[in-house]
Amino acid sequence: MSGTHNALDVAVRQFDMVAERINLDPAIHKRLRVPARCYIVSCPVRMDDRSVEVFTGYRVHHNTSRGPAKGGIRYHPDVTLDEVTALSMWMTWKCAVVDIPYGGAKGGVACNPKQMSRTELQHLTRRYTSELVNVFGPRTDIPAPDVYTNPQIMAWIMDTYSMSIGYAEPGVVTGKPIPIGGSLGRNEATSRGCVFSIYSMLKRLNRDVNEQTVAVQGYGNVGYHAADILHDAGATIVAASDSRGGVYNPKGLDPRDLAAHKNETGTVQGYPGADSITNEELLELECTVLIPAALDNQITERNADRIKADIIAEGANGPTTPAADDILYDRGKYHLPDVLANAGGVTVSYFEWVQGLERYFWTEEEVNSKLKGIMDRAFENVWHLSQTEKVNMRMASYMIGVKRVAEAMLLRGLYPQ
Ligand code: GLU
Repeated sequence: MSGTHNALDVAVRQFDMVAERINLDPAIHKRLRVPARCYIVSCPVRMDDRSVEVFTGYRVHHNTSRGPAKGGIRYHPDVTLDEVTALSMWMTWKCAVVDIPYGGAKGGVACNPKQMSRTELQHLTRRYTSELVNVFGPRTDIPAPDVYTNPQIMAWIMDTYSMSIGYAEPGVVTGKPIPIGGSLGRNEATSRGCVFSIYSMLKRLNRDVNEQTVAVQGYGNVGYHAADILHDAGATIVAASDSRGGVYNPKGLDPRDLAAHKNETGTVQGYPGADSITNEELLELECTVLIPAALDNQITERNADRIKADIIAEGANGPTTPAADDILYDRGKYHLPDVLANAGGVTVSYFEWVQGLERYFWTEEEVNSKLKGIMDRAFENVWHLSQTEKVNMRMASYMIGVKRVAEAMLLRGLYPQ
């Protein structure tokens, strides 16, 4: 993940560039460079061997002018306050780009979930939720899944919060399992939204999905479902990878079969009939569509000039550095930024929250068609602005998102004083 590179530096640099470009009110600029509030909690957890481990958890609210703080929780060894803060800032812009009534937040716990048992993960999740029980709430702060968290973990958050207030509250968290108030279509929503943005791009370029060759970096929830949906639509999935490495077959891989292999062995590596490649090689493969759906800081000034795909759709948050953005733009690539390309997840989270608050649930068709409406509209706005202002699509997305947030802040004013 971040290593020597700091995601927060990237997020603030991106924001500074857009602030200058749109002549952002200096007071708003100052306020949005820093998060509204950060919580750091220590989570003591009884491990299976009866020893106690103490994990550090974070929750950061970047801005809540447009609505409750919204954003996922990640469990990863490299989680830091800076990273969670960067991710919370990206959530603010993302919710504004797709125009849903939320502010931006993110949470995380520094831990290695791959080495923890189900019981340990449950203990950790419940303790983290207990520490933040006065922060979370359907009108204040609504978590969701992110890297290495899943619907079961959301169920434990929902239960811990509900037990503390005395009744079942589905609106406190999204990405829940269906039987406790989850939304149909939420699990695949980030990928479906990403695919909708790819379709919009293909339409603009007069290209057919059947002719696309796709490489997917990261075979978690986002990468797998994106591959699956595109494969069903007729595209050829030529490569996929996970944290251990990847596989490549120019004739095409079957995404479901590959997922079954990963389920069995823990990795896509060793999949029969495909060549073994590294994550770095995957990014530079001969293909037409590249979906970085793993972690941040993957496409940098070191490899951006070797990327061959002409459409890059960011399923992950922050996979491209600002220097790489410029290189890709100069090379004429069609680059769909995270705040647009992966906004389908939080959009269906919004649908799940609305359904939960109303206790009235929609069909999957309804969810998917409303998602398409939002994604298509956001794409068109961003595309149009990028063409008229001659800026890359990240800058265009930010210009739209930051302006919406600034407008809300100016209308609401500064209070208390
Ligand atoms: N973690 C996802 C994201 O980065 C989803 C957030 C949400 O649904 O609140 O967009």
